[in-house]
Amino acid sequence: MRARRATLLNLGKYKIAIPVVAVLVTAGPVIWFTSWLQKQGETEVSVLANWSVGITDANIDQAVSTLTSLAERGLDSCKSPGWDALRATVLATGIIKEISLVAPNGQTLCADTGSTFVDRETVVTAATATPDVVLDVVQFSDQSERMLRIRRALGRGKPSLAALIPAAPLLPHLMQGRQPLEGFAQLSMTDGTLIARSGKPGAPDSGLLVSEARSDRYGTVAKVATTRGSIVADYDDLRRIGVVVSAMFALAILFAALLLPRRLRNDPYYEIEQALAADQFVPFYQPIIDMKSGKLLGAEVLARWRKPDGSLVPPIKFIPVVESTPLILDMTRALMRKAIHDVGALLAQRPHIYLTFNTAPRHYTDSVILNDVGEIFDGSQIHFSQLVLELTERCALDNLSATRRVIASLQGLGCRVAMDDVGTGQNGLSYILKLGVDVIKIDKLFVESIGTDQNSQVIVETLVDLARNLRMQIVAEGVEEIEQVNYLREHGIVAAQGYLFAPPLPASAFVKLMQTMEPAAPSAEATAAAVQKAVAPTNRAAA
Ligand code: C2E
Ligand code: CA
Ligand code: CA
Repeated sequence: MRARRATLLNLGKYKIAIPVVAVLVTAGPVIWFTSWLQKQGETEVSVLANWSVGITDANIDQAVSTLTSLAERGLDSCKSPGWDALRATVLATGIIKEISLVAPNGQTLCADTGSTFVDRETVVTAATATPDVVLDVVQFSDQSERMLRIRRALGRGKPSLAALIPAAPLLPHLMQGRQPLEGFAQLSMTDGTLIARSGKPGAPDSGLLVSEARSDRYGTVAKVATTRGSIVADYDDLRRIGVVVSAMFALAILFAALLLPRRLRNDPYYEIEQALAADQFVPFYQPIIDMKSGKLLGAEVLARWRKPDGSLVPPIKFIPVVESTPLILDMTRALMRKAIHDVGALLAQRPHIYLTFNTAPRHYTDSVILNDVGEIFDGSQIHFSQLVLELTERCALDNLSATRRVIASLQGLGCRVAMDDVGTGQNGLSYILKLGVDVIKIDKLFVESIGTDQNSQVIVETLVDLARNLRMQIVAEGVEEIEQVNYLREHGIVAAQGYLFAPPLPASAFVKLMQTMEPAAPSAEATAAAVQKAVAPTNRAAA
């Protein structure tokens, strides 16, 4: 329970931190998504560039193997048989557009398409790829696109067999749906000769994600560049989901930030802890009267919760919660310190007047009460012998013998211990017998029923006998009628508290009452001074 409370409280204390966390949690995914997008974009352009050089190598490989098999079939001059049937074979490859025979100077001698125009193409560059394969980048006079021509040597001084492949399919598609992405893709030879290029016209060349891949196999380089915006557009759905999720997170945390303090405000434990920190628990003092002499014997300290608006909350509203938590220890300590402050000076002059404090079973585990009493009252204006610690018989005690030891230690200091609310629980008699208390307080329930309930009277009489036998004092609680006083007195009960004498009083009222009822015994100096004052005129007259 303590741990759970602590968590709640900590959250409460860090109320300001919650909106900060909300902002961080919201900003976190955005930052993460942005950097993820950057990485994703870099990966994508690199994949596209590698794909481009890879597909180029594969197409050239296929062209070379087609040419090799044609050469093996004896296709080595324009007159060789087989040219007529070649067209179907070429088209079947899918990638080769034309097979031709090319002179060592690069001039086309004949082709399966029948095209024999000498000046129809310009060789832009020629690169020796392998000892018997040459790669040409060719530009046709009637076409804007360049093509790749793969020449396979047929022997020294002989023409070569050549295959034409279009360059455009070797470029990656920079498309998103039907929309071209911003940026460009280009394929070139390692010497820089452009083979093909695609791109959105007017695409900015700056601020792009760029990747270059090269293949040494045939000496080609692919370069792909696209804007971050294009990549982001590719992940638009993801981005939308991200925005929704982040917004949900932000809302959830904001809700927590707004609702949690309210929840904590309604949490009685939290409220009480705050009240303790704000010093809002104050002691009231209910006088305990000697019914024989009418003198003041002492007072029971009863807690009141004074709210900032000045209203007083009675113990019934908070004591049950406080007693169920360790806060009762702090609350009792606070009341004890305040009592020293309120009435310490007066009690120092009236050593026969005592104060009683209510304690809970929790006080008796680990000797808490013993340490607290020692720490708070040792050397204070209130002597240990002026202290009575009340323990109610209503609460079950976990460990009777340990409680007994603590009580004995308190008695060793000079304090007394009272059994409170006697007669209301089932433990009364056994606690009285086993714990060795000094005082028993007869509950107001019995006092109330004096004169009406025969059973109650029997119980009161039994308790009086018991107290007498065990040499314990008796205090009667809740005395409201003079008849009750008479009855109690007849039965030998001397001490009583109740509305008939006084209700629990605030410190200032109790101080006045004490000063009136029990004037402090004059000190020797004060008596001497008073005597001197009284005799002085006589002395002067005598002189
Ligand atoms: P309690 O210890 O039995 O205290 C006596 C209660 O009876 C007080 O109620 C007191 O105001 C009330 N009372 C006194 N004379 C009369 C009377 O003539 N007629 C009636 N009807 N009632 C009278 P209060 O102050 O409301 O306290 C209620 C209970 O709260 C206390 O009962 C005690 O068990 C608990 N309590 C109060 N202060 C503390 C505290 O500091 N620590 C602990 N652990 N419990 C406390
Ligand atoms: Ca009490
Ligand atoms: Ca009581």
